[in-house]
Amino acid sequence: TTFQDLGISDRIIQSLLVKGYEFPTPIQIQTIPLFLSGDCNIIGQAQTGSGKTAAFGVPIIQNIKEKTGHIQAIILTPTRELAIQVSDEMSSFGGMNGLKIVPVFGGQPIPIQLRALAGGADIIVGTPGRVIDLMHRKRLDLSHISYFVLDEADEMLNMGFIDDIKEIIQHTNDDKRMLCFSATMPKPILGIAKKYMGQYEMVSV
Ligand code: AMP
Repeated sequence: TTFQDLGISDRIIQSLLVKGYEFPTPIQIQTIPLFLSGDCNIIGQAQTGSGKTAAFGVPIIQNIKEKTGHIQAIILTPTRELAIQVSDEMSSFGGMNGLKIVPVFGGQPIPIQLRALAGGADIIVGTPGRVIDLMHRKRLDLSHISYFVLDEADEMLNMGFIDDIKEIIQHTNDDKRMLCFSATMPKPILGIAKKYMGQYEMVSV
């Protein structure tokens, strides 16, 4: 299987080749065509190291074709390190010109992030606490998003972010698509899926 077989555009395939991604990993083979072919929500069971970032990141980048003046996707991660890593990785996939991906996380002075957001972000990658903080300050409007991703959902649960995640979801529009990636599938994760996703497809590697 090649990235071309999965429906990835030549432009993005070129960027992936530069990164040394010649062939998709199993989670990418399962997730990417499912994502691109319909409008389903997806739960993915996959370990860190499986290539899950590109599994959700590549099709999101491919689907965002123009600026809308609103945030179009948000990815929640348990740690600042992962937020930076996911943001850097998605920036390297060769999305549309001018696409702005902004990482937001605790520990970095808020003014830096406020400035980045003021410049018109298309995609946010953030930790739940800082996302809530920015939302409360009315500097982060998630009411026009197309994609909502929970990355390492079980880790976020372990770190006590469940209520933050629920609050963030409540500030988003209903017609978004949701993706949830987790190494394990404890009950509360499936509970979130049932409550907020309705119908979903499940992939696992
Ligand atoms: P992740 O599970 O997203 O953290 O990815 C684990 C590692 O695999 C990262 O270093 C990625 O850069 C790398 N990776 C992801 N997809 C591919 C691929 N298709 N081919 C080669 N390396 C990949």
